[in-house]
Amino acid sequence: MVSVTAEVVIVGAGVVGSSTALELARSGLRVTVVDRLGGAGNGSTSASSAVVRFTYPTAEGVAAAWESRHCWEGWRDHLGAPAGEPLAAFTRCGVVMLDVDLAPRSLFTRLFDTVGVPYEEWEARELAARLPALDTGRYWPPRAVDDEEFFADASGRLGALCTPDGGFVDDPQLAAANLAAAAQRHGASFRWNTRVTAVSQAGGRVSGVRLDDGTALSAPVVVNAAGPWSGRLNRLAGVGGDFTIGLRPLRQEVHHVAAPPGYGVGGGAGPVVADMDLGTYIRPEGREFLLVGGTEPECDPLEWLDDPDAGSPAPTASRFRTQVTRAARRLPGLRVPGRPRGVAGVYDVADDWTPVYDRTDLDGFYVAIGTSGNQFKNAPLVGRLMSTLIHGVEGGHDHDERPLVHVCEHTGQSIGLAAFSRRRRPSTSTGTVLG
Ligand SMILES: Cc1cc2nc3c(=O)[nH]c(=O)nc-3n(C[C@H](O)[C@H](O)[C@H](O)COP(=O)(O)OP(=O)(O)OC[C@H]3O[C@@H](n4cnc5c(N)ncnc54)[C@H](O)[C@@H]3O)c2cc1C
Repeated sequence: MVSVTAEVVIVGAGVVGSSTALELARSGLRVTVVDRLGGAGNGSTSASSAVVRFTYPTAEGVAAAWESRHCWEGWRDHLGAPAGEPLAAFTRCGVVMLDVDLAPRSLFTRLFDTVGVPYEEWEARELAARLPALDTGRYWPPRAVDDEEFFADASGRLGALCTPDGGFVDDPQLAAANLAAAAQRHGASFRWNTRVTAVSQAGGRVSGVRLDDGTALSAPVVVNAAGPWSGRLNRLAGVGGDFTIGLRPLRQEVHHVAAPPGYGVGGGAGPVVADMDLGTYIRPEGREFLLVGGTEPECDPLEWLDDPDAGSPAPTASRFRTQVTRAARRLPGLRVPGRPRGVAGVYDVADDWTPVYDRTDLDGFYVAIGTSGNQFKNAPLVGRLMSTLIHGVEGGHDHDERPLVHVCEHTGQSIGLAAFSRRRRPSTSTGTVLG
């Protein structure tokens, strides 16, 4: 049996594992990352809509998204990437969240005021003037498209909460590859097409992992960044018994359609529109296309998976029709094509739709999991949160008794890691991908 030694093994080279690898390698640790796929970001990250918004229902969620947004804006600096290296790009097109009682504007504006996120409140008339391609009708609650009430008249007019600094990252897989390349510049090594099949322990703490090629990789620290496969790895490590937060994989689809005329303003890309009133979100994809996703409205059955590999990777005709018809209700110029186009991915959903960034009751075994369909945007910071956590705990800090606090580089915000504890009381949540 081949035996290899590292200081840290990270399982998973998605955007979360790659960011964690960068920050730990940057801090001087010898890091090895293992991924069962052939490159960085090929797992659930590749299906991400990569929307960068700040509308989380907790102060920590807002602060994390706001800090990370600064990292996306200065992406080359964040990575220390040489000129000429192709990088993912952040587009600042603004995010417009339409009014909905389930998540009223005030839930976010009080947090925006605390964290310092600029925003504008638009009443119905202003929303109509700013985005003339949009139908501002209130249709709540979301319905199945075959429900005869689906096309009922609007019961009122909606306003919106606009965050002009939001937007999206154009290529989530490339963003993960950028982080992996940056980690490699700091000495991290990556093993592709290799699966972790066992987690080893010695003397009451983790001692490494076993790989499917027979290699024993020893390390005193192992990080579970396995995305929707995180539950499987936790079971291999025998951890999870003290978690108060459950985790489950959920299949989701994002669809690709031609943008209707006039969606963009002044010839530019239109904004991201978060529309819980109809149960959908819309994101520009270049100037001519849109991505259309869902916000888990109650009327839609959720596709929970026991096995994250069991869900079909192709979009289905029925989901496509549902999501795109809702988007077309909001954007009357949008055509609903007969043939589905888009991607399917899997969320690693936590009970309260908030991630778990924590140690476990197995010393040396850490988790960056439960990203609940909403942590792509936060990934640049997550690597730093994990670095603060791992250095603190390995340095002797009792994180369970006195949770560590991370101070953000760009915004100066202090983020208490207790918010991401495995043993927290469930956080305030909309019960949806919003957090
Ligand atoms: C359809 C969709 C839309 C989304 N839209 C948004 C959005 O608009 N904005 C936003 O902020 N977030 C969004 N998200 C969420 C975001 O993309 C995820 O939170 C993030 O990409 C998760 O990254 P990860 O690195 O944790 O997981 P992954 O990218 O899934 O990485 C996990 C990696 O672990 C590897 N792995 C697993 N088990 C093993 C093993 N035993 N051995 C070796 N390797 C293993 C896998 O191969 C995989 O590469 C979306 C997600 C989906 C699916």
